Amino acid sequence: MSAFERVAVVGAGMVGLSTAWFLQERGVQVTVIERDHVAAGSSWGNAGWLTPSLATPLPEPAVLRYGARAVLSPASPVYVPLRADPRLLRFLAGFVRNSTAGRWRVAMGALAPLNRRAFAAFDLLAAGGVETSTPPAAPFLACYRSAREREGLVTELEEIRAAGQKVEFELLSGPAVRGLLPALTTEINAAVRIDGQRFCDPGRLVTALADSVRARGGDLWEGVGVRGIHVGRPGILDARDSLNGAGEVGLDLSTGQIARFDAVVVANGAWLGELVHPFGVRIPVQAGRGYSFSVAARQVPDGPLYFPAHRVACTPLGDRLRIAGMMEFRKPGAPLDHRRIAAIVNAVRPLLTGVDLDMRTQEWVGSRPCTPDGLPVVGRTASPRVFAAGGHGMWGITLGPVTGQLVAEAVTTGRRPVELAPFDPLR
Ligand SMILES: Cc1cc2nc3c(=O)[nH]c(=O)nc-3n(C[C@H](O)[C@H](O)[C@H](O)COP(=O)(O)OP(=O)(O)OC[C@H]3O[C@@H](n4cnc5c(N)ncnc54)[C@H](O)[C@@H]3O)c2cc1C
Repeated sequence: MSAFERVAVVGAGMVGLSTAWFLQERGVQVTVIERDHVAAGSSWGNAGWLTPSLATPLPEPAVLRYGARAVLSPASPVYVPLRADPRLLRFLAGFVRNSTAGRWRVAMGALAPLNRRAFAAFDLLAAGGVETSTPPAAPFLACYRSAREREGLVTELEEIRAAGQKVEFELLSGPAVRGLLPALTTEINAAVRIDGQRFCDPGRLVTALADSVRARGGDLWEGVGVRGIHVGRPGILDARDSLNGAGEVGLDLSTGQIARFDAVVVANGAWLGELVHPFGVRIPVQAGRGYSFSVAARQVPDGPLYFPAHRVACTPLGDRLRIAGMMEFRKPGAPLDHRRIAAIVNAVRPLLTGVDLDMRTQEWVGSRPCTPDGLPVVGRTASPRVFAAGGHGMWGITLGPVTGQLVAEAVTTGRRPVELAPFDPLR
């Protein structure tokens, strides 16, 4: 039996809804509170790769070298606007400190156990009736202009393997990869085929998850924001009581009401920091904004395509191709910047044929919740009634279900699963 019978989850993205679903598996009555609508955050227009073999920490020496060279150009795939925002500067300073080979290895070692369980968690959702479709990426192709350009990824894949993560890959020549995928132009002369990965239509998957949470008796309040969290004795809700965990949790809602629960899991993506800061969580969660759009393709590939030199991801969604990219460190609510869409279009135009890049639909921007050490923020905060689940950066779709499964275990047993130790929100 769970110590908590009624638990609120803030945020109806991949992480929040997965958490709600796995809490239901453990007999908890859940209420998901979403200020906008299901999948309003980064869980909608992302690339939908389910690629545990590639789920690595973002801060690494190569990213840093790349970033330092190009971050100030709006056409660059990694963009940091020049402005004196103390929170952004704090995040960047931490990011730089963590971008060493040694720290990358430690962080990769922490992610590997999560990655190993990622697909099993998806399979539990499917077996439990969630209408998911996570087909194998057959194949997943990382494409390059030259074999030399490819060397960095090959080294990285070997390091990922050394960290205990299963990775199976094969090097392909230009003719071989263009034979597999005629939509590639002769600009592509080398590739890496990575086996054993999957992909999905993330918006559909998250919507199916929401439907399942509702069908199993969960409440889902859309259009209701959480403005603050108080923990205390019944009737006297005060953040200062948070440490002894007495009583209950009160959520201060945008409707002006206070909703009371036994515990809360905060899973609100790039906005995580605001709600959990009063409970001792100091690690900054910064929006790493990415863009995507969809185009018609004469021949849709059978799996995702990656152009690492431009950091552009392509994913087949029905008869269209979703093209995604960019890492823009700005506020999550900033408007879509059309220059970034243009930069993605310009990057892929020479590389793909048979796609109509000028007839784009579903242009989108979303905020990856990024942390300076590249690790998610998952587990109990300073209050035994307040949990955080987020900060997965580039990998919240791949790692959402396994995160939800482990958070549900932590909430209902009062014990932290060993896999979550490196992601302690109080680190
Ligand atoms: C371009 C791009 C490509 C990507 N590709 C991939 C990929 O291929 N594979 C992969 O694994 N990951 C990918 N990601 C990363 C992935 O999208 C994110 O890590 C993941 O969606 C995060 O999920 P989440 O549930 O934590 O946050 P979100 O999906 O952002 O959900 C948070 C929700 O909380 C709500 N909310 C916020 N504040 C409040 C509040 N105060 N009260 C109530 N509700 C609130 C928001 O409205 C939102 O709906 C990509 C991201 C981008 C931008």
